Amino acid sequence: MRLVLMGPPGAGKGTQAVGIAAALGIPHISTGDIFRANVSQGTALGIEAKRYMDAGEYVPDGVTNAMVRDRISHDDARPGFLLDGYPRTIEQVAELDSMLASDGYKLTKALELTVNVDEVVSRLVRRAAEQGRADDNENVIRRRLEVYFAQTAPLTALYAQRGILQQIDGMGTVDEVGLRIMAALA
Ligand code: ADP
Repeated sequence: MRLVLMGPPGAGKGTQAVGIAAALGIPHISTGDIFRANVSQGTALGIEAKRYMDAGEYVPDGVTNAMVRDRISHDDARPGFLLDGYPRTIEQVAELDSMLASDGYKLTKALELTVNVDEVVSRLVRRAAEQGRADDNENVIRRRLEVYFAQTAPLTALYAQRGILQQIDGMGTVDEVGLRIMAALA
C-alpha cells in the first residue's frame, strides 16, 4: 500500500494517519512532523523550513522533495507507506510519481478528508490553545487554508482522473472517520 492522505489543515490527517499506518503496518510519513523535528533540533533544514512554516507558506519544493525522497528510500518504507501532507504542489505530485516509478511502483490510493471550513478553523484555534504550535495563530491559520485551497485542493482532480482518489467525510468523531477510512481501503 502506497498511500497519500490529503485534506486541509485541521482536517485530522495527522490523527487518522497514525491509526491507518498502525493498522496496515506501514510507516506514517508526515512532512510537517519531519519539518517540526528539524526545527526543534535546530538543523539547517529546520532553520530553512521555519521561515516558511511560521508564515503559513509552503517550504520550497526542492527542499521538501529531497526530504521525502530520502525518507521513502529507508527500509521500513519498502512494503509501503502513508504520506501525510505530501504532495501539496503539482511539482510534488510529479516528483512523487517519479520516485515511485524508478522502483516500478505506483500510488495505490489518494485519500482526501473533506471537512467544513468553519469547523476546521475552530479545530485549529483549539489546537493552538492546547499545543501552542507556532503556526497555529489565527492569521497564519487563514493563510494556510488559503494556500491549501489555491494550491493543493485542485491536485485531487489529478488523482481522480487516474481513478485512485477516494474522498472521505472527515466530519464526526475520530473513530467514525477512522472507520470510514478503513472501509474505503478494504
Ligand atoms: P497543516 O496541514 O496543519 O498545515 P502540517 O504539519 O502538515 O500542517 O504542515 C505544517 C507546515 O509544514 C506547512 O504549513 C508548510 O509550511 C510545511 N509543509 C508540510 N508539508 C509540506 C509540503 N509537502 N510542501 C511544502 N511545505 C510543507
